[in-house]
Amino acid sequence: MDENYEVSILRTGHRPGRDDRITTHVGLVARAFGADRVIFPDIASSSSSTINEVSLNFGGDFKTESTTSISKFVKSWTGSIVHLTMYGQPIDSHIDEVIESCHSIPLLIIVGAEKVPFFIYEASDWNISVTNQPHSEIAALAIFLDRLFQGNELNQSWDGAKQKIIPQKSGKLVEGD
Ligand code: SAM
Repeated sequence: MDENYEVSILRTGHRPGRDDRITTHVGLVARAFGADRVIFPDIASSSSSTINEVSLNFGGDFKTESTTSISKFVKSWTGSIVHLTMYGQPIDSHIDEVIESCHSIPLLIIVGAEKVPFFIYEASDWNISVTNQPHSEIAALAIFLDRLFQGNELNQSWDGAKQKIIPQKSGKLVEGD
């Protein structure tokens, strides 16, 4: 994958209890599919702990951060912004422009949970849909990152891993277990 891209994911609208698992999975997908960091609302601290534990065991230098104000975070962002929404423009018609921008400035990708506030649509350089059907922030993020990194994220290396999975035809083999 292109080491020069700087890609962050912002999770908005987290509802404690109800969204805990999905917020954690947004972070897991962000990490596994090549982003550099995830920013969670400060009320999602258990998701941050889970992701940090995964990074400790499985390596890499993925970062988790938190914010007390999504709106301040978005308004102070100086790079480009993609908001993933089923109401947006098709991914295939804009992914090349997004890739181009990543060569020079950091990218923030925003995914929602409940209704996304309108300022996010306005603050975004691209409102991008992965189909115009309702589905999931986890699926939308995975597909978006795969298109952004053009499949290369599947072969990234994970430095400093305590545990390394050795692919098997059947069963499980974990080095360092
Ligand atoms: N009803 C919410 C709204 O008005 O935006 C969307 C809820 S949806 C369960 C949660 C998140 O999944 C959205 O904020 C968006 O980031 C993502 N999402 C769902 N379907 C999508 C699609 N077709 N394309 C892109 N992102 C999608």
